[in-house]
Amino acid sequence: MGCRVNQVETERLSHTGARYGYYPTAEEQPPDLIIINTCSVTSESDRQARQLIRRLAREHPQAGLVVTGCYAQAQSAELAAMDGVVLVVGNAEKERLWEHLPLLSPRQDSAGIEATGQWASLQEVALVDHFAERSRAFLQVQDGCDRRCTFCTIPALRGASRSFSPDYVLAQAARYQQNGYRELVLTGINMGSYGRDRQPPTALAELVSRLLAARGESRIRLSSLDPLDLDEALLQQFMPGSGLCPYVHLSIQAGDERILKRMGRGYGRDLVAEKVARLRSICPEVVLGADVIAGFPTESPAAFGQTLALLQEIGVTFLHVFRYSDRPGTPASAIPARFRVAEREIKRRAETLRQWAASRLPAIAAQRIGSQEEVLVESCRDGLARGKSGGFLPVRMVDDGRVRVGWLYRVNISGYDSNYQELVGTLCT
Ligand code: SF4
Repeated sequence: MGCRVNQVETERLSHTGARYGYYPTAEEQPPDLIIINTCSVTSESDRQARQLIRRLAREHPQAGLVVTGCYAQAQSAELAAMDGVVLVVGNAEKERLWEHLPLLSPRQDSAGIEATGQWASLQEVALVDHFAERSRAFLQVQDGCDRRCTFCTIPALRGASRSFSPDYVLAQAARYQQNGYRELVLTGINMGSYGRDRQPPTALAELVSRLLAARGESRIRLSSLDPLDLDEALLQQFMPGSGLCPYVHLSIQAGDERILKRMGRGYGRDLVAEKVARLRSICPEVVLGADVIAGFPTESPAAFGQTLALLQEIGVTFLHVFRYSDRPGTPASAIPARFRVAEREIKRRAETLRQWAASRLPAIAAQRIGSQEEVLVESCRDGLARGKSGGFLPVRMVDDGRVRVGWLYRVNISGYDSNYQELVGTLCT
């Protein structure tokens, strides 16, 4: 469940289990154990995790359920008491999950065991070979966060920022490339803080530059970034032709000065606009994505309007909208009820943002007609190949039998299909 880091960790667990005699089940084989890697970014994520645990306990009465991830780190006792749960392992112990298993007897009727542990430097464990069913591979470079945004529990659930060594990241990248991955997506909990904890300290820009130099036939994509971390050295990596995908996903969260302050984001609207303007001067074809929160406590209709205006001003195309929800123990959760935005209004604002975002793709697609895009193919079905451009724009083309999933192709864009909301093109010969 949850973010790309969780997905990398889940893949790593499926790789390291063999050392302890645990193997992913074959098709239809009843599992002895089910590992659930949970998320806890919103109260909705917690609800979905509980729902999944209940369903799996019903469907697999013979299996022991092992719950790990952010929700396990936050609420281990609550989860340990759920039916079917035999072990709860917090994020700090996740990489050593298998070592806790020998303690277990088959499914037992008592509460599960809890192992939450202490934060330690990142374990440079097994390299991951494959990413199940994916045409791109996620490359985790960092975990944890040193920031203290007032609405967020992640630092408490993932610990301080800790970075993998550049050599480990490059080795993982090389392994993915050997296994045919043509797109590597860098990811972390607060990726922009990469390297600051290392001795000697390094930076994300240096790591990206080394990965680009060793990229071979693959391209590099960056996951979410904080506007504060878009320093000049990193912006320079977006030079056209560098091999870095012209796509930036910014964790903006809001567009109103006072709300940004109350969120503890550490930047204002102007900084966001400046960074984006500089980025566009270096990489004119860059496509922007953004994360925003609708309905942060004290957000007035005018403040909400500021968020929409900023998104419009900097030309965001893709939007991830989060409805504000209290996270236990955060400063924002202590803001008195009279300053809160009503749930119905939060929903309305989130819907307004999503409707605005839905109007963005046709606008940018129109600009791409007549251009050439480098497309990573994600599927080939019924004579059609579909994939994403470097700017993460959806592209469709006729598959004359030569196209392969997971490969990169140059495509001449000839149109936009508003029914399927995708660019249409033909393979360059
Ligand atoms: S940067 Fe802020 S929102 Fe992001 S994980 Fe850290 S504390 Fe949470």
